[in-house]
Amino acid sequence: MDLGIRGKRALVTAASKGLGRGCAEALAEAGVDLVINARGAEALEQTAAEIRAAHGVEVTAIAADIVSDAGRAAVLEAAGAVDILVTNAGGPPPGIWSDWDRADFIAALDANMLTPIALMQACLPGMMERGWGRVVNITSQSVKAPIAVLGLSNAARTGLTGFVAGTARQVAPQGVTINNLLPGAHDTDRIDAMDRAASESQGKSIAEVRAAKFQTIPARRYGTAAEFGAACAFLCSQHAGYIVGQNILLDGGGINATL
Ligand code: NAP
Repeated sequence: MDLGIRGKRALVTAASKGLGRGCAEALAEAGVDLVINARGAEALEQTAAEIRAAHGVEVTAIAADIVSDAGRAAVLEAAGAVDILVTNAGGPPPGIWSDWDRADFIAALDANMLTPIALMQACLPGMMERGWGRVVNITSQSVKAPIAVLGLSNAARTGLTGFVAGTARQVAPQGVTINNLLPGAHDTDRIDAMDRAASESQGKSIAEVRAAKFQTIPARRYGTAAEFGAACAFLCSQHAGYIVGQNILLDGGGINATL
């Protein structure tokens, strides 16, 4: 399917690896020029080079912490007028509800709620003026069903979801859509780290941890960054203009719910 976005310009944050990279790759395949970001310059430059070589699009790489004011300002300056914004950042650490103090909550809110909101506030006015725009926020299945060890994610991402629900309806009249993609378990460095932590705390091998998790997912596997990226690119396409303010779960059927 031609997504109808060849020649558009996208900013994808936290995109040297994992789900962010999956989104950047799928947009590049659709002919979109990219500005991508991550903190580590080496992996970021390598990703940029691989995407340029594979898809022949322009890729600008800005190494910066997207959660810091200075990092975000540098990324936004390099990005300029973008048609598409995909927000992403690292997820918070696991623990239990009694572990976290105010500073932990502020850090999670900064990364997973206030950073995507600041990015939207910077990019939405230009999109609205030009009469076309697409925003996809990478959030989590924890918004639909809480994950016990990820209380910081449960809390911060729900705040973002509320902001998007209200804002999406205010920018849609100008041809701008905002939607959230909710990953269930996907095969990335992040899930490796979570599985390693579970293996240590439960005294089981990583293979045993994974086998038990696969039993809870009807698809019996983790998702891939490529599958995730394809869904993101569709939401950014010309065909998705009537999808407004939605939360789309990509979890292999893991959350057992009718709606
Ligand atoms: P990942 O494989 O660990 O990749 C994270 C990417 O984000 C890397 O490119 C990393 O590069 C970059 N990054 C992290 N913090 C950053 C920051 N402050 N500024 C700029 N770039 C930053 O993670 P993932 O699995 O793709 O997860 C992406 C998001 O989805 C996370 O918020 C995660 O919690 C959420 N999620 C993932 C899953 C899953 O199963 N994978 C499920 C639910 C939710 P640098 O480290 O070099 O900065």
